[in-house]
Amino acid sequence: MVSVDADKCIGCGACAATCPDGFEMGDDGKARVKNDTAACVEEAISACPVEAISK
Ligand code: SF4
Repeated sequence: MVSVDADKCIGCGACAATCPDGFEMGDDGKARVKNDTAACVEEAISACPVEAISK
């Protein structure tokens, strides 16, 4: 299961930009997992500057 640690997330949007099928930005300015089976999840994990995404 892919998850975003909201305490670590700085709301930069890189995951949603890199992998819009897998992530979206919530009203709280933090990223949310949309689909943890998206093919681009690994790219989003690499793109996150604070390593807030884990699987
Ligand atoms: S890339 Fe990381 S820090 Fe940026 S919005 Fe996504 S989870 Fe948050």
